[in-house]
Amino acid sequence: MGRHTNPIRLVIFGRQGAGKGTQCVRLVKEFGVLHISTGDMLRSAVAAETELGLAAKAIMDAGDLVGNEIMIGLVRERIAMPDAADGFVLDGFPRTVGQAEALALLLGDNHLHAAVDLEVSLDEVTSRMKARARADDTDEGIARRLSLYEQETRPVLRWFADRDLLLTVDGLGAEEEVTARLVAAINSKL
Ligand code: AMP
Repeated sequence: MGRHTNPIRLVIFGRQGAGKGTQCVRLVKEFGVLHISTGDMLRSAVAAETELGLAAKAIMDAGDLVGNEIMIGLVRERIAMPDAADGFVLDGFPRTVGQAEALALLLGDNHLHAAVDLEVSLDEVTSRMKARARADDTDEGIARRLSLYEQETRPVLRWFADRDLLLTVDGLGAEEEVTARLVAAINSKL
């Protein structure tokens, strides 16, 4: 567990293959925060065949984005739950500028401390994903997901940079080295 007593609120960005999932587990330990992944929440809803899951499945299968209204409602409910009062790292949200603006309104005075971009070059993530060689990691699939990241997420990163909240952290290297960089960067904002 981390040494921090005040709730810490973070957002994490990273291309697919940047190691975001691994680092989120480590940040949870370091800062004692909750990991809130909108992708995981949606996959659970799909598995449970809830109304949301039924609506989201086709959109997710197509690699498209679920609508802002649905996503904002989902995050609003999640961060209102008591466990989120101890802080969180949001993973997968916001993915559009509209979502970022809505999040700022939802949080109000309990604003974010930082938005972290785990930076790994396009060449590196492409070769990592090819090495993983999952069935859905075709060359076309990889290229599509990576280009969607550039189109959709870059403007959100700029939105956070404009508000002096963006931390860009080099995601290359051993897992624990990357964690140490993340922790140092985040601590600089606390
Ligand atoms: P992820 O695991 O974060 O890559 O999310 C998996 C899929 O869930 C995405 O490809 C989207 O279809 C959907 N999704 C997750 N988070 C969001 C979001 N913030 N806005 C829209 N769609 C989302």
